Amino acid sequence: MRVLLALAVVGTIVVSLLPPDEIPGPLSGWDWLMHGLGYALLGFLTVASGLRWPMAWGCALALGVLIEIAQGAVGYRSFEVRDIVADGVGAGVGVLVATRTLAPVWRHQADVAQQAKREGRRDRDAQREQRRLDRAMKPAKVAAKRGAPTWQQVAQRQGTKCWLCGTRTYAEDRQRDASGREQLGRTFPCVDYVIAVEAGGTHEDHNVRLAHRHCAAARRANPALAKFGRPPRTYS
Ligand SMILES: [Zn+2]
Repeated sequence: MRVLLALAVVGTIVVSLLPPDEIPGPLSGWDWLMHGLGYALLGFLTVASGLRWPMAWGCALALGVLIEIAQGAVGYRSFEVRDIVADGVGAGVGVLVATRTLAPVWRHQADVAQQAKREGRRDRDAQREQRRLDRAMKPAKVAAKRGAPTWQQVAQRQGTKCWLCGTRTYAEDRQRDASGREQLGRTFPCVDYVIAVEAGGTHEDHNVRLAHRHCAAARRANPALAKFGRPPRTYS
Protein backbone atom coordinates (compact mmCIF):
# COMPACT_ATOMS: atom_id res chain seq x y z
CA MET A 1 0.00 0.00 0.00
CA ARG A 2 2.83 2.41 0.85
CA VAL A 3 4.51 1.60 -2.51
CA LEU A 4 1.23 2.20 -4.36
CA LEU A 5 0.80 5.48 -2.49
CA ALA A 6 4.34 6.61 -3.36
CA LEU A 7 3.73 5.73 -7.03
CA ALA A 8 0.43 7.63 -7.00
CA VAL A 9 2.04 10.71 -5.42
CA VAL A 10 4.90 10.71 -7.95
CA GLY A 11 2.43 10.09 -10.82
CA THR A 12 0.24 12.98 -9.67
CA ILE A 13 3.21 15.34 -9.43
CA VAL A 14 4.55 14.33 -12.88
CA VAL A 15 1.17 14.63 -14.62
CA SER A 16 0.43 17.92 -12.87
CA LEU A 17 3.69 19.51 -13.98
CA LEU A 18 3.55 18.38 -17.61
CA PRO A 19 3.21 21.20 -20.14
CA PRO A 20 -0.51 21.65 -21.02
CA ASP A 21 -0.08 20.57 -24.67
CA GLU A 22 1.05 17.11 -23.58
CA ILE A 23 -2.27 16.41 -21.85
CA PRO A 24 -4.64 14.54 -24.20
CA GLY A 25 -7.03 17.00 -25.85
CA PRO A 26 -10.45 15.49 -25.05
CA LEU A 27 -9.61 15.42 -21.37
CA SER A 28 -8.65 19.05 -21.03
CA GLY A 29 -12.26 20.14 -20.50
CA TRP A 30 -12.68 17.54 -17.76
CA ASP A 31 -9.77 18.88 -15.79
CA TRP A 32 -11.75 19.15 -12.55
CA LEU A 33 -12.97 15.57 -12.93
CA MET A 34 -9.39 14.31 -13.35
CA HIS A 35 -8.43 16.26 -10.24
CA GLY A 36 -11.32 14.73 -8.31
CA LEU A 37 -10.62 11.15 -9.42
CA GLY A 38 -6.86 11.44 -8.95
CA TYR A 39 -7.20 12.81 -5.45
CA ALA A 40 -9.91 10.31 -4.55
CA LEU A 41 -7.38 7.60 -5.37
CA LEU A 42 -4.71 9.43 -3.38
CA GLY A 43 -7.03 9.82 -0.40
CA PHE A 44 -7.99 6.14 -0.53
CA LEU A 45 -4.36 4.97 -0.69
CA THR A 46 -3.32 7.33 2.11
CA VAL A 47 -5.93 5.87 4.44
CA ALA A 48 -5.08 2.35 3.26
CA SER A 49 -1.44 3.03 4.17
CA GLY A 50 -2.47 3.44 7.76
CA LEU A 51 -3.02 7.18 8.26
CA ARG A 52 -6.08 8.35 10.21
CA TRP A 53 -8.65 10.14 8.07
CA PRO A 54 -8.05 13.78 9.15
CA MET A 55 -4.32 13.34 8.54
CA ALA A 56 -4.90 11.51 5.23
CA TRP A 57 -7.26 14.17 3.94
CA GLY A 58 -4.94 16.98 5.12
CA CYS A 59 -1.94 15.42 3.38
CA ALA A 60 -3.78 14.90 0.10
CA LEU A 61 -5.08 18.48 0.19
CA ALA A 62 -1.61 19.82 1.06
CA LEU A 63 -0.20 17.99 -1.96
CA GLY A 64 -2.91 19.57 -4.14
CA VAL A 65 -2.13 23.05 -2.84
CA LEU A 66 1.64 22.58 -3.27
CA ILE A 67 1.17 21.33 -6.84
CA GLU A 68 -1.02 24.31 -7.71
CA ILE A 69 1.66 26.63 -6.26
CA ALA A 70 4.28 24.76 -8.33
CA GLN A 71 2.09 25.06 -11.41
CA GLY A 72 1.86 28.80 -10.79
CA ALA A 73 5.65 28.91 -10.52
CA VAL A 74 6.54 26.96 -13.70
CA GLY A 75 4.75 29.46 -15.88
CA TYR A 76 3.20 27.14 -18.46
CA ARG A 77 0.50 25.96 -16.03
CA SER A 78 -1.58 28.12 -13.75
CA PHE A 79 -2.58 28.33 -10.11
CA GLU A 80 -6.31 27.67 -9.86
CA VAL A 81 -8.43 27.70 -6.70
CA ARG A 82 -11.06 25.64 -8.55
CA ASP A 83 -8.54 22.80 -8.94
CA ILE A 84 -7.75 22.88 -5.24
CA VAL A 85 -11.47 22.60 -4.43
CA ALA A 86 -11.74 19.62 -6.79
CA ASP A 87 -8.66 18.07 -5.16
CA GLY A 88 -10.15 18.53 -1.67
CA VAL A 89 -13.56 17.12 -2.58
CA GLY A 90 -12.00 14.19 -4.45
CA ALA A 91 -9.62 13.38 -1.62
CA GLY A 92 -12.51 13.63 0.85
CA VAL A 93 -14.54 11.10 -1.15
CA GLY A 94 -11.54 8.76 -1.42
CA VAL A 95 -10.84 8.99 2.32
CA LEU A 96 -14.51 8.39 3.14
CA VAL A 97 -14.71 5.33 0.88
CA ALA A 98 -11.46 3.98 2.34
CA THR A 99 -12.55 4.34 5.97
CA ARG A 100 -15.94 2.77 5.20
CA THR A 101 -14.60 -0.21 3.27
CA LEU A 102 -11.39 -0.86 5.20
CA ALA A 103 -12.67 -0.47 8.76
CA PRO A 104 -14.31 -3.95 8.89
CA VAL A 105 -11.16 -5.51 7.42
CA TRP A 106 -8.99 -3.82 10.04
CA ARG A 107 -11.35 -4.77 12.82
CA HIS A 108 -11.16 -8.39 11.66
CA GLN A 109 -7.36 -8.26 11.54
CA ALA A 110 -7.25 -6.82 15.05
CA ASP A 111 -9.58 -9.60 16.27
CA VAL A 112 -7.36 -12.26 14.71
CA ALA A 113 -4.24 -10.73 16.26
CA GLN A 114 -5.88 -10.55 19.67
CA GLN A 115 -7.06 -14.13 19.39
CA ALA A 116 -3.51 -15.27 18.56
CA LYS A 117 -2.23 -13.31 21.55
CA ARG A 118 -4.79 -14.91 23.85
CA GLU A 119 -3.88 -18.38 22.61
CA GLY A 120 -0.19 -17.67 23.07
CA ARG A 121 -0.82 -16.56 26.63
CA ARG A 122 -2.87 -19.70 27.31
CA ASP A 123 -0.06 -21.88 25.91
CA ARG A 124 2.52 -20.12 28.07
CA ASP A 125 0.31 -20.54 31.15
CA ALA A 126 -0.10 -24.24 30.40
CA GLN A 127 3.65 -24.67 29.98
CA ARG A 128 4.35 -22.83 33.23
CA GLU A 129 1.79 -25.00 35.02
CA GLN A 130 3.42 -28.12 33.57
CA ARG A 131 6.88 -26.99 34.71
CA ARG A 132 5.50 -26.23 38.15
CA LEU A 133 3.90 -29.67 38.33
CA ASP A 134 7.14 -31.29 37.16
CA ARG A 135 9.05 -29.48 39.92
CA ALA A 136 6.46 -30.49 42.51
CA MET A 137 6.62 -34.10 41.32
CA LYS A 138 10.38 -34.30 41.45
CA PRO A 139 10.74 -35.88 44.94
CA ALA A 140 8.13 -38.46 44.02
CA LYS A 141 9.99 -39.22 40.78
CA VAL A 142 13.30 -39.57 42.60
CA ALA A 143 11.68 -41.92 45.12
CA ALA A 144 10.08 -43.91 42.31
CA LYS A 145 13.52 -44.38 40.76
CA ARG A 146 14.70 -45.97 44.00
CA GLY A 147 11.87 -48.46 43.65
CA ALA A 148 9.12 -46.77 45.63
CA PRO A 149 5.71 -46.99 43.97
CA THR A 150 3.63 -43.85 43.56
CA TRP A 151 0.23 -43.73 45.20
CA GLN A 152 -1.28 -43.99 41.72
CA GLN A 153 0.50 -47.32 41.15
CA VAL A 154 -0.62 -48.64 44.53
CA ALA A 155 -4.19 -47.47 43.91
CA GLN A 156 -4.18 -49.20 40.54
CA ARG A 157 -3.09 -52.51 42.04
CA GLN A 158 -4.98 -52.43 45.35
CA GLY A 159 -7.87 -50.01 44.91
CA THR A 160 -8.42 -46.50 46.22
CA LYS A 161 -9.53 -47.36 49.77
CA CYS A 162 -7.46 -46.43 52.79
CA TRP A 163 -6.18 -49.64 54.38
CA LEU A 164 -6.27 -48.07 57.86
CA CYS A 165 -9.83 -46.78 58.06
CA GLY A 166 -11.43 -48.59 55.16
CA THR A 167 -13.01 -45.61 53.42
CA ARG A 168 -12.07 -44.25 50.05
CA THR A 169 -9.30 -41.75 49.49
CA TYR A 170 -9.87 -38.53 47.58
CA ALA A 171 -7.43 -37.55 44.87
CA GLU A 172 -9.42 -34.34 44.46
CA ASP A 173 -8.62 -33.32 48.04
CA ARG A 174 -6.07 -30.67 47.20
CA GLN A 175 -6.12 -26.91 47.06
CA ARG A 176 -3.99 -24.14 45.74
CA ASP A 177 -2.90 -21.80 48.52
CA ALA A 178 -2.39 -18.04 48.18
CA SER A 179 1.16 -18.45 46.87
CA GLY A 180 -0.05 -20.88 44.19
CA ARG A 181 1.42 -23.98 45.84
CA GLU A 182 -0.64 -27.13 45.91
CA GLN A 183 -1.77 -28.16 49.37
CA LEU A 184 -2.81 -31.79 49.82
CA GLY A 185 -5.76 -32.45 52.10
CA ARG A 186 -6.12 -35.02 54.87
CA THR A 187 -8.09 -37.45 52.72
CA PHE A 188 -5.64 -37.33 49.83
CA PRO A 189 -4.06 -40.76 49.17
CA CYS A 190 -0.46 -41.61 50.03
CA VAL A 191 1.67 -44.73 50.13
CA ASP A 192 1.90 -46.33 53.55
CA TYR A 193 4.32 -49.15 54.43
CA VAL A 194 3.29 -52.12 56.55
CA ILE A 195 6.90 -52.31 57.74
CA ALA A 196 8.50 -48.88 57.43
CA VAL A 197 11.35 -48.56 54.93
CA GLU A 198 13.56 -47.25 57.75
CA ALA A 199 12.78 -50.47 59.66
CA GLY A 200 13.85 -52.62 56.71
CA GLY A 201 10.54 -52.70 54.84
CA THR A 202 10.67 -53.17 51.08
CA HIS A 203 8.90 -51.41 48.20
CA GLU A 204 7.32 -54.68 47.13
CA ASP A 205 3.58 -54.92 46.68
CA HIS A 206 2.96 -56.95 49.84
CA ASN A 207 4.55 -54.23 51.97
CA VAL A 208 2.86 -51.16 50.47
CA ARG A 209 -0.69 -49.99 51.10
CA LEU A 210 -2.78 -47.01 50.13
CA ALA A 211 -3.81 -44.74 53.02
CA HIS A 212 -5.22 -41.32 53.71
CA ARG A 213 -2.47 -38.87 54.48
CA HIS A 214 -4.27 -38.27 57.78
CA CYS A 215 -4.39 -41.97 58.66
CA ALA A 216 -0.78 -42.64 57.67
CA ALA A 217 0.38 -39.67 59.79
CA ALA A 218 -1.71 -40.86 62.75
CA ARG A 219 -0.21 -44.36 62.43
CA ARG A 220 3.33 -42.94 62.23
CA ALA A 221 2.68 -40.77 65.30
CA ASN A 222 1.23 -43.68 67.25
CA PRO A 223 2.13 -47.11 65.82
CA ALA A 224 0.15 -48.82 68.59
CA LEU A 225 -3.10 -47.31 67.33
CA ALA A 226 -5.41 -50.14 66.33
CA LYS A 227 -8.39 -48.24 64.95
CA PHE A 228 -8.49 -45.27 62.62
CA GLY A 229 -11.53 -43.11 62.28
CA ARG A 230 -12.46 -41.83 58.90
CA PRO A 231 -10.67 -38.47 58.52
CA PRO A 232 -12.80 -35.39 58.01
CA ARG A 233 -13.01 -34.36 54.43
CA THR A 234 -11.06 -31.27 53.64
CA TYR A 235 -11.54 -30.87 49.94
CA SER A 236 -14.08 -28.45 48.58
ZN1 LIG B 1 -8.04 -43.59 56.26
